[in-house]
Amino acid sequence: MATKMLNIAGVLYEVKMVDGDYCGGNMGKSNFAEAKIFINKDMPLQVQENVLLHEILHICYRNGYLCKEDGEERVVEVLTNFLYPVLQEHPFDLLSAEN
Ligand SMILES: [Zn+2]
Repeated sequence: MATKMLNIAGVLYEVKMVDGDYCGGNMGKSNFAEAKIFINKDMPLQVQENVLLHEILHICYRNGYLCKEDGEERVVEVLTNFLYPVLQEHPFDLLSAEN
């Protein structure tokens, strides 16, 4: 599978499909300092997509400086603003093999 790159708030993240062991029993993880997202490849495709979206939202949450005191409207607005350009670039092709 070709390397996937995802632009999230101007930082190009490398999406790496890895063995389950690499994620320490988790389905995925993000490394902010290295701009890498790791997804356990030993799962059904839709689960991989779900986990990738989960990791993207973690990055948006951090980039938006959200915290547990933030109200619903602020959380939704920050996540929308970070996620919208990602979805503009990759509407449905985040994990598909053709790109
Ligand atoms: Zn999580």
